[in-house]
Amino acid sequence: MTQTPEVAVAMDWGGTWARAAVVDRGGNFQWQSRVANAAGASKDQLLEVAGNLLTEAIEQSGSRWLAGVGVAVAGPVDSETGTLFDPPNLPLLDGVSLKALWEPSLGCPVLVGNDANLAALGEYQFGAGRVSREQPVPPRTLVYMTVSTGIGGGVVDRGQMFLGANGLAVEIGHMSIDNGDSAPACSCGSRGCLESLASGTAIARIAAERVSGEDSRILEQAGGKVEAITSQMVFDAAAQGDGLANAILDGVVFALAVGLTNVLHLYNPDLVVLGGGVTNGLIQLDLLPRIQALMMERAMSKRHRDFRLVPSQLGDAVGLAGAAALVWQESGGPMSVKS
Ligand SMILES: [Zn+2]
Repeated sequence: MTQTPEVAVAMDWGGTWARAAVVDRGGNFQWQSRVANAAGASKDQLLEVAGNLLTEAIEQSGSRWLAGVGVAVAGPVDSETGTLFDPPNLPLLDGVSLKALWEPSLGCPVLVGNDANLAALGEYQFGAGRVSREQPVPPRTLVYMTVSTGIGGGVVDRGQMFLGANGLAVEIGHMSIDNGDSAPACSCGSRGCLESLASGTAIARIAAERVSGEDSRILEQAGGKVEAITSQMVFDAAAQGDGLANAILDGVVFALAVGLTNVLHLYNPDLVVLGGGVTNGLIQLDLLPRIQALMMERAMSKRHRDFRLVPSQLGDAVGLAGAAALVWQESGGPMSVKS
């Protein structure tokens, strides 16, 4: 009988931290650690620090058989070669193949993917889509959307990530929602995108624009300083019944519902998973049912309405879980979906 791999090493490499974990086939984290990307570090220094963290993770996996290393990075990734293109958080790594670089030195397969696509795969295998007694079959089509400083997402269809020709599919935050003359500018260069209307950054900006002259708890929370307003302050003020905060969040809920209705029509998901800090704020105020109700109202058919809207189960571990899920998928799938 051949030995089956016991653990995967996962890395989630963001703009501030490189995080790594040793993850078993059930998605359980056996060890985890992180290192900061040093400010002003050169490309070689960044790669060395992250590479050392992976070496440490592999050491921590001990004598257990390692299936491989999975790495999640923001931005487009060539899934064959593991090459990064214009990674927004790590611009120095443009054109670098982490696979070519690390496979020889680490001595195991290295798989690289876009963090939002991998987050969807992580939720599919180890989070909201996980097969359980309550959910005896996996979702056919899972859409994951993270609403935090920005808005991103991914789609897993029948167990496979939907990547697009150049790995750039499902830029869910940049679907156009508002095409009016006063639509706000978006970080992508366009106007009126979902991200410019409903991200944490957008909520803080809208509050700063509207709070002046108003007697609002938002400004109170910010110590009277418009520039200190955060999206969390808007959620806190709304929870205390502040009218302006609730009006701002009405707009956010509407924009998200319109965007997610587009998602229903594009992908026909049976499971929609929402993650990120803004989602946590919406959950605190019990606003997910309102988003779902608006989606139901706008969806074009009964079959498009046949979906569940649920919060992420993995929180900020979703990128690591997704990177591990990629390794398990490439090495024959996790135990839980073995036929
Ligand atoms: Zn945009």
